[in-house]
Amino acid sequence: MQANIVLLPGDGIGPEVTAEAARVLNAVADLGGHEFQLESHPMGGNAIDDFRNPLPPATLAACKAADAVFLGAVGGPKWSDPTAELRPEQGLLDLRAELGLFANLRPVPVFDSLVELAPLKPELLRGVDLLFVRELTGGIYFGPRQEQGDGDVAYDTLVYSTAEVERVARVALRAARGRRGKLASVDKANVLASMRLWRRAVTEVASAYADVEVSHHLVDAFAMQLMRSPAEYDVILAGNMFGDILSDEAAILAGSLGMLPSASLGSGRQGLYEPVHGSAPDIAGRGIANPIGAILSTAMLLRHSLHLEAEAGQVEAAVAAVLADGLRTADLAPPGQPAVSTKETGRAVAARLAGA
Ligand code: NAD
Repeated sequence: MQANIVLLPGDGIGPEVTAEAARVLNAVADLGGHEFQLESHPMGGNAIDDFRNPLPPATLAACKAADAVFLGAVGGPKWSDPTAELRPEQGLLDLRAELGLFANLRPVPVFDSLVELAPLKPELLRGVDLLFVRELTGGIYFGPRQEQGDGDVAYDTLVYSTAEVERVARVALRAARGRRGKLASVDKANVLASMRLWRRAVTEVASAYADVEVSHHLVDAFAMQLMRSPAEYDVILAGNMFGDILSDEAAILAGSLGMLPSASLGSGRQGLYEPVHGSAPDIAGRGIANPIGAILSTAMLLRHSLHLEAEAGQVEAAVAAVLADGLRTADLAPPGQPAVSTKETGRAVAARLAGA
């Protein structure tokens, strides 16, 4: 197939991990006889420096025209003044809004070869394979807010409409159908009216997915349960804030932030794919960043935007294989053990694919 993929390398380690994501996409294209056109565009801090705009119009136009967009990471100390007029993160928020992306998918894969790295007992971690589906454009982060003049009172409002909940619930239910057929929806329906609406809307939509086993959980108890028996869960659906917190909590299970991929999806095929980590200025420019979160994000891109499920599975299998061979970047290597570079990791995954 032919596909036009926009790359937004961004700042810090963003360009380093994006180069390895591109290497893997090119390997997939060579292997399957596909034609992927990869085009890089400025975004984030570098675009503020060069264009005085974190999301220049030409970048936005290219993203809108693309089949899929891959982002490395944006931000860094140079642009971190919270009072600055232009901020890299604004480019990302604007891009999500412009592309109509309302569902954030964050898998938490736990590789058998890495279970020793997480702070939980290995026996709790074996077989863990979670997928968080977080509502991305509604809820308390986007509701009416007020900081009153005297600074003594402030409020943020948690608002959801039935339509907003239904559309993200459908994404989660479809994902569950393609996995182990289980969906855990998280809310706070015992206290919040918006969350009672959430539960009603999820229940209503779920009635059309009889093959998916749906359960409802209160967020406080669920946060504990998630650490006590993570292998019990498959797809986890939550609103914007609860999803943000729970997916960060669960990230610890994967052993390193550098391992985690994500996808932001809307109602069409187009999506934005990015590793969960930031621009890691503390290690930028040293060639030691872990590119696996970025590489696994390309697997999500292949699956969700290009509908190349077999190729997505091959990328995931190649990552599992190089980890099983003992390949470790510095964030994964035990103290005193040698670590491989960002490039060596990307090359190893691409070589595995070529030999697949
Ligand atoms: P971070 O994710 O960049 O780094 C946190 C820690 O994890 C650091 O010690 C870093 O070295 C390590 N780390 C992160 N990714 C790694 C990788 N691939 N391999 C090895 N180690 C890795 O978070 P932060 O330090 O809070 O933020 C740094 C900058 O990134 C800030 O400007 C922040 O705003 C931005 N940020 C951007 C995004 C994004 O682009 N989506 C997301 C989060 C943070």
